[in-house]
Amino acid sequence: MAETTQRVAFITGISGQDGYYLSQLLIGKGYDVHGLIPCNAPGIGEPPGLNLHYGDLADGGNFGLLLDKINPDEVYNLAAQSHVRLSFDLPIYTADVTGVGVLRWLEAIRQHQIRTGRTVKFYQASSSEMFGKVKASPQNEETPFHPRSPYGCAKVFGYWQTINYRESYGLFACNGILFNHESPKRGEGFVTRKITRAAARIKLGLQDKLSLGNLDSQRDWGFAGDYVEAMWRMMQQAQPDDYVVATGETHTIREFLDATFQRFGLDWSQYVEQDPRFLRPAEVDVLCGDASKARRVLGWEPKVSFRELAQMMVEADLELAQREVSR
Ligand code: GDP
Repeated sequence: MAETTQRVAFITGISGQDGYYLSQLLIGKGYDVHGLIPCNAPGIGEPPGLNLHYGDLADGGNFGLLLDKINPDEVYNLAAQSHVRLSFDLPIYTADVTGVGVLRWLEAIRQHQIRTGRTVKFYQASSSEMFGKVKASPQNEETPFHPRSPYGCAKVFGYWQTINYRESYGLFACNGILFNHESPKRGEGFVTRKITRAAARIKLGLQDKLSLGNLDSQRDWGFAGDYVEAMWRMMQQAQPDDYVVATGETHTIREFLDATFQRFGLDWSQYVEQDPRFLRPAEVDVLCGDASKARRVLGWEPKVSFRELAQMMVEADLELAQREVSR
């Protein structure tokens, strides 16, 4: 029998939600998984099966050395300053990390390929925030962009650099245009997790109010665990390409509040207060993705529904809140 060599993956943003789910998926598929962590990252310890390396998208000075040392077959660029509201406070930092950081990787890969003659595939975590003030609904790969935040602008820059490296140098480089994707591992600053965490803590008497911004915006929310499968499938195609990954359903923040607070028999309107601190200078009112290309070409489809997602998150946050009570 021919000897199969173990495939090597390198994931930036390994300490984030998507880094967690993607690393689990790839370990399960037998990959040797490496991850990039910034020096001030919240500790994820040394999870079994993972090799961690220090590096920062705002620097890039050691990317070439890391590529030479790790020799990855696939690089997944999931790292970013990914919070939209925060990007208005830190626009230049966001442009540097979320935008130019992509270029730092692409250029390091191009040079590594020249040095070694190896092929390294590149996945860029592009975002539905690029559609911003949407030009058509639902949004697909042909829909023009109109970003509404420094974050969205930075993602558009990274998207086009990825395509330019593909077209100019023949890099195997893909953009996954992922719509919002959530899970119990979602950062606490994002609206879904903020809501499920607050509902559980309110139920157990750990907090009495939930301050939110705009309740009218609508998002196409899917489960992060489903979405990392689409990333991997893009990288297994014969040709690199760009794909929208979405559920095709859109829901308001109010609907997410309903789905969450109902679990505890609570009426959210008694607890939620509007706080202008959480409003944004420009809002993305409604996003809804059309993932028919991903379905057709990748054979991908979301498995977890909106209600199941809210349920999964609220159960996980209830468990955390119970632990908080018993401490
Ligand atoms: P985004 O779509 O990448 O910006 O994901 P978020 O989860 O941060 O925000 C989703 C939507 O929820 C946006 O339209 C926000 O304006 C809205 N939203 C309302 N209140 C809040 C809040 O307190 N925090 C966050 N993060 N978003 C909020």
